[in-house]
Amino acid sequence: MHTTPGFPTVRVVSHPLVQHKLSLLRDRTTPTKIFKELVDEIATLIAYEATSELSLEPAPVETPLERTTGMRVSGKKLTLVPILRAGLGMVEGVARLVPAARVGHIGLYRDHDTLQPVDYYFKVPSDAGERDFFLLDPMLATGGSAAAAVSSLKRAGATRIRFLCLVAAPEGVERLAPAHPDVSVLTASLDRELNAQGYILPGLGDAGDRLFGTR
Ligand code: URA
Repeated sequence: MHTTPGFPTVRVVSHPLVQHKLSLLRDRTTPTKIFKELVDEIATLIAYEATSELSLEPAPVETPLERTTGMRVSGKKLTLVPILRAGLGMVEGVARLVPAARVGHIGLYRDHDTLQPVDYYFKVPSDAGERDFFLLDPMLATGGSAAAAVSSLKRAGATRIRFLCLVAAPEGVERLAPAHPDVSVLTASLDRELNAQGYILPGLGDAGDRLFGTR
């Protein structure tokens, strides 16, 4: 994992398997089935890094031979929150590592008049203040949805939030970081830029369409 100068909230997961799978994901000829599997696998690998910061506490354990002290993840329980719809593609991959995690959902749309993101669906566990949150969206593009989703989680009481994505644009990070400097971003790549239509370059296209075959 590495940081990039000028982007202190971003951690790029530079593991060779992540980078290899990301290149397959970017390939325009990768079919939906494989695309879905790759999103799932990269989400697992990013979650592996994201969970490296969870704190541990000693825990007694009886082996077949003797009593010893092992370690267990301590403190706050984990909640995964996909941003609809593309974030859904990352849920199973992350949950594979943390099967006890709860799953919330956030749906956002952009109001045509105000151009502001509005929640059309928001559901997270009621004890949000006692939980760690992994917010999931394959693409951190303009950062508008990400910043709005973080604000919604904070209004619900969340205080510990990480944003897990596959590809981030500098513009998105630069929007999210000042609004929520406490939220670290874990990504497989910090790409070059957004184009005029809000797509990340080089990117991988529309993640939702490629995941669900709606292109
Ligand atoms: N959302 C996507 O799915 N792809 C992009 O490149 C930007 C936003």
